[in-house]
Amino acid sequence: MDKGITTRQKNYNQWYLDVINVAGLAEHAPVKGCMIIKPYGFAIWENIQKTLDAKIKETGAKNAYFPLFIPQSLLKKEAQHIQGFAPECLVITQVGKKKLKEPLIVRPTSETIIYEVFAKWIKSYRDLPLLINQWANIARWELRPRLFLRTIEFLWQEGHTAHATEKEAEKKAREILELYRNFVESYLAIPVIAGEKTESEKFPGAVTTYTLEAMMQDGKALQLGTSHMLGQNFAKVFEVKFLDKDGQEKYVWQTSWGVSTRLIGGLIMAHSDDKGLVLPPKLAPLSVVIIPIWANKKEQKAVFTKADAIAKSLDLNLAVEKREELTFGAKHFEWEKKGVPLRIEIGPKELAKKSVVIVRRDTGEKELVKEEKVAVFVEKILDKMQKSLFSKALRFQKENSHTTDSWKEFKDFIKKDRGFVYAHWCGKALCEAEIKKETKATIRAIPFAQKSEKGKCILCGKPSKQRVVFAKAY
Ligand SMILES: [Zn+2]
Repeated sequence: MDKGITTRQKNYNQWYLDVINVAGLAEHAPVKGCMIIKPYGFAIWENIQKTLDAKIKETGAKNAYFPLFIPQSLLKKEAQHIQGFAPECLVITQVGKKKLKEPLIVRPTSETIIYEVFAKWIKSYRDLPLLINQWANIARWELRPRLFLRTIEFLWQEGHTAHATEKEAEKKAREILELYRNFVESYLAIPVIAGEKTESEKFPGAVTTYTLEAMMQDGKALQLGTSHMLGQNFAKVFEVKFLDKDGQEKYVWQTSWGVSTRLIGGLIMAHSDDKGLVLPPKLAPLSVVIIPIWANKKEQKAVFTKADAIAKSLDLNLAVEKREELTFGAKHFEWEKKGVPLRIEIGPKELAKKSVVIVRRDTGEKELVKEEKVAVFVEKILDKMQKSLFSKALRFQKENSHTTDSWKEFKDFIKKDRGFVYAHWCGKALCEAEIKKETKATIRAIPFAQKSEKGKCILCGKPSKQRVVFAKAY
């Protein structure tokens, strides 16, 4: 049944799939490229959703729902948009035996259909800002699908806003990126680089794309969230106009932004180890598992009673492991693989000492804790664990970030070492493409937190104003 887990050292990609498998998060669907999210994996998504939904609503956005299908003519309206998405669009041309008059696209993202509707909803400056969010599934054809990271169908939220001024829209795009950054760092415990995408990496149809880039344990970058300043590109083609206070008719300024089930992929790859999943306490479906240990019926009764009492005293999602058919070791390994942050063991020895043993999943540290102190201890240690997962990931990110001005060294870093390389770039798409061709590294972000610094492009030697972050990416 259990084929175990390949080590990260041996094969990182296989390790990732093994962790998903043994933790029971997801599996491949009968439809190639699609994923079945199993209950334990979906519980993580629900925790992400619940927290993020509340935060998004705090910004004034309201949830709505738009159709899964987009008439092809709508998608074609914005030239860059269709050019960017066409290769991965699923097109419905026939229903039953009848050809459709106009093909329908299964949404790869919803700008076009939502803005067609915004044009009807928005008449005057009083209708602005319009702030809409939807939780939905979308479909993009993937040639090389990977569970959670790239699947043909995935779940996400997409926010769409319309504003009276450029300044307001720009502010919104940055506000949401900051919201995402805060969420990813404090809940997923993953440190990120926030910045701007280059022209060639930005969202098709956007003026600017802001991004969050995280480093996985194999040194590759994973884009975790994006927020786009759309300017008036879509407003102009969809005629999203409003009558302003000055009596003038104007086009709105727009933003769109989203994060997806990919966050779960990031979560797995950032923290887990060769024993299985490691989850940050704030998003773990179960915070604690209580495992009673017994040798005979009399002991069993006593430890069960104690386990129930401890469970009752904790105001947390937890499980009490009472199965009789499994050995203690088997139970231990099963919960370890599932990444439950804390394990509480109660056996006759502990009972006699009026104590329990508490074990941390991330470090394996064990502590004997007096019964009356368990609740306080658990709360404290979960908080500590959340923070220490973040600092461990941050340390890893720093240790695997390099700065260089030499092309040879650049190539070596990308090839032999892992991680991010901070290097100068002249701003030309041609250089960017050449670097990608030669090293497979792309510009992940032009980071915000970077002093302007004069230098020379790592490839062509032409002047550059600041360093950008290069990495191989998922
Ligand atoms: Zn250059």
